[in-house]
Amino acid sequence: MQELTRAAIRNVAASSTVYARGLQLFRSGAVKGISIQRTTGQFRIGIMDSYEYTVTIDEKSDTEIVYTCNCASAIKESGACKHVVAGLFSVLKHQEHEKLKSLPTPEDRRACSVMDFFRGQEDLVQPMEVFHIEPVITVPKMLTANEGNAYLSLKCGHDLLYKV
Ligand SMILES: [Zn+2]
Repeated sequence: MQELTRAAIRNVAASSTVYARGLQLFRSGAVKGISIQRTTGQFRIGIMDSYEYTVTIDEKSDTEIVYTCNCASAIKESGACKHVVAGLFSVLKHQEHEKLKSLPTPEDRRACSVMDFFRGQEDLVQPMEVFHIEPVITVPKMLTANEGNAYLSLKCGHDLLYKV
């Protein structure tokens, strides 16, 4: 499966309202279980909304996100329903967790989880909200032997990027 991103989930959602509802479902703990069928490469996810729905997401396709949901709006509308959006977020969380486990050092894992924390906040940020961030950069000694430039990128909101 292609590596999921929040942007990819947003693109596949039927509308921005559906995306927001799906994200809310995911955050409210509506995802009741996620399992992977190794033989078919399919995620099966139970989502508790007004009824319990079953979402499947195909892991094998590299080019597109292949999904099903057994709710009524999945049949009526084109684009992913809110249950699929919630399901995709749980697959994303699963992938991030797997990635974190595969990192070699505790420092890498810590840096990665800090990044994930801020990435996860992006949909909650209100306009004009201020974050105070104190970055600590450690340069290994072997890299300081020659002169060079280091860049630090700080991303604020959706489209502001500062390089120091
Ligand atoms: Zn649905």
